[in-house]
Amino acid sequence: MGDCMTYIILDLEWNGAYSKRAHGYFNEIIEIGAVKMDESLTQKDTFHAVIRPVVSRKLSSIVKNLTGIEASELEEGRSFPQALSQLRKWISDPEAVVMTWSTTDILVLLENCRYFLKEDRIPFINYYVDLQAYCQSVMDMGSSQQIGLGKVGEILGINGEELAMHRALDDSIMSGKVFAHIFEQNSFRLHVKKADDDFYGRLLFKTSIISDINDDHVNKSDFRFRCDACNRRLRRTSKWVFRSRTFCAEFFCRGCNRKYSARVQIKLKYDGAQTNRKLIVQPEEQDKAQDNEKTAE
Ligand SMILES: [Zn+2]
Repeated sequence: MGDCMTYIILDLEWNGAYSKRAHGYFNEIIEIGAVKMDESLTQKDTFHAVIRPVVSRKLSSIVKNLTGIEASELEEGRSFPQALSQLRKWISDPEAVVMTWSTTDILVLLENCRYFLKEDRIPFINYYVDLQAYCQSVMDMGSSQQIGLGKVGEILGINGEELAMHRALDDSIMSGKVFAHIFEQNSFRLHVKKADDDFYGRLLFKTSIISDINDDHVNKSDFRFRCDACNRRLRRTSKWVFRSRTFCAEFFCRGCNRKYSARVQIKLKYDGAQTNRKLIVQPEEQDKAQDNEKTAE
């Protein structure tokens, strides 16, 4: 990245359709909107293309209602390869940082590049930032729930009244306003990803839940527990069963006479297995133990 920065914020609209060629559901892009900003974070230019769908001419009612795009508008659109080559020329700067609101848009863009261009990479993205993730980190919102663009605009007090939500150009303009509002040089730098093999591997990786206790990623010690109260090693009193995407078993402490339920969930992420363990005291048994103590007194 040089000193003369170009920021591109992209937004897409697509129509879900069944594709014989893709042997399944395909998200066909029907509109591309983008804004270009320089290092002063002012909007320098915009790009807008309506794309004539070829996989399915029929818009789903969800898309029709969400975007308000008319079939007649799409009929006058360009082809996807045409629109993409125009977008590439418009971006022009190979060092540009391209952003989208969450990675869904670039996943769909990649899907369309594969389908129409037989490319496994998005040809004009060399540096990328997930603007939604960046926004949530700057605004201290955590990452467990994804927040909508409209909501963020509201929180930041950005006036978007003249903008139509869920149309690609207006959404990209709104994203640009949010970006200019929250941008901080140092934190932003940390979110810029080089679009290399690792980037695409991560993007396409689907996190899964391990359901086989003998899986190679399972660490046996994650299935052993100690008593919260006396730190004694707990004795397992049931088999491990897998339900609600979690391994469950019952445990018992001989020292405290307490019964426990243990839960272990293992997610297989791009960077490896991530284990989440929980140990819950069974309440009635705890009361009983206290009653026993009382009678003993
Ligand atoms: Zn104990």
